[in-house]
Amino acid sequence: MAPAYDALVIGTGFGGAVAACRLAQAGLSVRVLERGLRYPKGSFPRDFEDPRNGWLWQHRQGLFDIKLLKGMSVVQAAGYGGGSLIYANVHLRPPPDVFASGWPEGYSRESLDPYYDLVAHMLDVQPITASARGLPPKTKRMQEVATKLGREAQFFYPNLAVRFAPAGEPMPNKFGVLQEGCSYCGECDIGCNRRAKNTLDLNYLAVAEQRGAEVTTQAEVTRIEPLSPGYRVTFTDHANAGMQRTVDARRVFLCAGAVNSTELLLRNRDVLGTLPDLSARLGTRYSANGDFLAFAFDTKEPWDPAVGPTITTGMVVDEGQGKDKTWFLFQEGGHPVQAAGLMMAMDPDRAMTLPADLLQRELVKVLRTRSKEMAAIENERGRFQAVFLAMGRDKSNGRLTLSPITRELQVQWDVPANLPLYRTQEQLCEDVARALGTRAAFNPLWERLHLPVSVHNLGGCAMAEEPAYGVLNPHGEVHGYPGLYVMDGAALPVGVGVNPSSSIAAVAERNVEQVIRQVKDAPNWVAPERVPTKAAPAYPPRVSMRMMPEVETVASPVVSGTDPLGDVVVPPGGTVASPTPVVGLRFTERMKGFLQPNHPSPEDFAGAARAGQRGGQTAEFVVTITLPNLDRFLAQESHGGIVQGTLHVRGFTPPGGAPVENGVFNLFVGTERFYERRMLYLMPFTGVDGQPYLLDGYKEVNDDAGFDVWSDTSTLYTVLRKGHERTGPIVATGIIRLHLPDFLQQLTTFSVLGTSSPLKQADAMRRFGGMFMGTLWDVFARAKFD
Ligand SMILES: Cc1cc2nc3c(=O)[nH]c(=O)nc-3n(C[C@H](O)[C@H](O)[C@H](O)COP(=O)(O)OP(=O)(O)OC[C@H]3O[C@@H](n4cnc5c(N)ncnc54)[C@H](O)[C@@H]3O)c2cc1C
Ligand code: SF4
Repeated sequence: MAPAYDALVIGTGFGGAVAACRLAQAGLSVRVLERGLRYPKGSFPRDFEDPRNGWLWQHRQGLFDIKLLKGMSVVQAAGYGGGSLIYANVHLRPPPDVFASGWPEGYSRESLDPYYDLVAHMLDVQPITASARGLPPKTKRMQEVATKLGREAQFFYPNLAVRFAPAGEPMPNKFGVLQEGCSYCGECDIGCNRRAKNTLDLNYLAVAEQRGAEVTTQAEVTRIEPLSPGYRVTFTDHANAGMQRTVDARRVFLCAGAVNSTELLLRNRDVLGTLPDLSARLGTRYSANGDFLAFAFDTKEPWDPAVGPTITTGMVVDEGQGKDKTWFLFQEGGHPVQAAGLMMAMDPDRAMTLPADLLQRELVKVLRTRSKEMAAIENERGRFQAVFLAMGRDKSNGRLTLSPITRELQVQWDVPANLPLYRTQEQLCEDVARALGTRAAFNPLWERLHLPVSVHNLGGCAMAEEPAYGVLNPHGEVHGYPGLYVMDGAALPVGVGVNPSSSIAAVAERNVEQVIRQVKDAPNWVAPERVPTKAAPAYPPRVSMRMMPEVETVASPVVSGTDPLGDVVVPPGGTVASPTPVVGLRFTERMKGFLQPNHPSPEDFAGAARAGQRGGQTAEFVVTITLPNLDRFLAQESHGGIVQGTLHVRGFTPPGGAPVENGVFNLFVGTERFYERRMLYLMPFTGVDGQPYLLDGYKEVNDDAGFDVWSDTSTLYTVLRKGHERTGPIVATGIIRLHLPDFLQQLTTFSVLGTSSPLKQADAMRRFGGMFMGTLWDVFARAKFD
């Protein structure tokens, strides 16, 4: 039997909306499945007391899907319109050199420009300067900051998909859908209840429905299975008690977003076995697009984060050459008035000290509680809170995988390899904060655990000519599976460095055009908006549509869009260097000992180590500890660093050892006793049985009767826990030691990061050594002599 539809589109973000619109315009029968809800005017959640009331995908298909993945925290949207519902409206084209490597043949800025123009036309983009309301305070602050920092030539106003018309007056947009003008309420990232954001449901998706696309929301796709011809797609119908339903279609366009599309394909290949021939490269070339989040509290002048669209300005940083090039954008950010408490929970000075030994999920729980406590803080203070967002060209060297036994999605993200970018971003955040008369504060997940948060996830199903290099062919069709396409952020083979939605949509425009030309055997087919004025399409009202226009309109044709980033001037030697360069430090440590499984008394470290030694229960690790920012390492109470390396624990790790996954090191954390400090080592890993474990060890540095510096700083009291949290049950206990020959070797491994100046390197070593010795002095000597 012939499949019911010519095309099935999964997901309605920037890829899915483009695909659905063009396929329907081309006259194909189109079905759309979207896991989230529709948001008619005024329906975005606003219950700030209860996170389960409309906010979280996990609770009745709410708006935000926040995934605390091992290796990366990911924020994305669920809803009809995908990321456009909660994004900050910024539309930028990456500079031409982004396409110079990593892309299949045929991709360049020049070849994509007509599609960027088309996207700009559909989403009606324009900068904040087009608004009759004038510039919001934070926009003006950033203008001043750029001048103070000597970066005026790299300052610009990005295009925004926002309607800058009078607020409160509904008017049809060019597709006949009613919208109002922007009221500057600052709520863009929690859904625009005024419909001033040009979200995808008001343009691309509206046109798709006008042209007959059938849309089912609350429909979460779980399985894709080849038929002959076409594919059978299974989805969970959340609107009908989670019933399992199927749809057959000749072609499937997977557009569930970079993380979800990749996960769905991984599950269909590795768990369900329905798509066994997917490329071995599935999951690779993941990019977090260099996302970096920071804050500033108590700015000298009001920042007024809740006034104006969330982002209105940009500033380019472009330093170095070749593989040492660092390129990123800095953008000012805002937040709704009601989020002031949440932001203040990030303020290290105000949020009380956070315990140093919390891992990802525990830390998020504590921050959630703190933000509730902070919610009562008077609004006036909230006016002096700034949000900083940076994004840039990271190494795009991440990998999305399913954990072998638990099948949990995880990200392998190499923070140290991307540190030159992150360090420069931190540095600029500090400079901007200083120019605003205060200090920068960093996202605690970064500050404590060096876990980035990404809202701009890309890659995982990269396009490449050959399946040996990527999952998709250069037109987005899955290698080995004709008629199955991926047309969202997952298809981009490298991070674009700028806010990516324009690029995702432009690539989808290009690729769906190719599909339509093939299917219709019409080699010159183009989107109707690209044909000359006389033939421009009408957007007729349709009775059956829930939210569609009363007014018939005729679209104006596409004209060349503007490229504000292209007007930025970068001097030949690069942008001005920061006056406060960030210097880091790295060293490698090897420790060996014994861990006895199921020792009757888990706190009896010495007894367990002896038992372990008798039974040959060896434990050993070689780890590299990176302190990305020495200044902050020295200033923070938790003195945290990143741990990477390999662990061998007999009976728990495979013969070749287990890699440490986002390990944390804290030097000299205070305890309840003044003359006592602890060095903490937290090393999550996956055991030989595929289960998560945590090596949780501490060195106790105190002025005990023995007064033995060497023993104190070389003895790691260790437990092995099940799971990746410090509350997990203990499964082994013992002691792992630093032996003198290994310590002497360790001394040769110290290297200073971020400067090639011998003077600065010596200074960094002196400061680190001073802190190390200074703390040992506090512990061992001051008690005796003060
Ligand atoms: C807070 C925030 C601010 C941002 N600001 C900007 C910005 O200013 N500019 C910019 O360019 N980018 C911004 N982004 C990023 C931008 O939103 C994403 O890059 C973009 O939305 C990705 O498009 P996509 O088509 O790949 O996926 P998405 O837009 O994420 O769309 C995927 C869709 O698929 C649906 N889906 C997922 N799984 C399934 C399933 N199994 N079955 C059915 N449906 C499914 C989802 O619900 C979603 O609707 C921001 C993101 C966030 C979170
Ligand atoms: S500032 Fe307010 S009205 Fe304007 S686009 Fe954002 S949410 Fe909508």
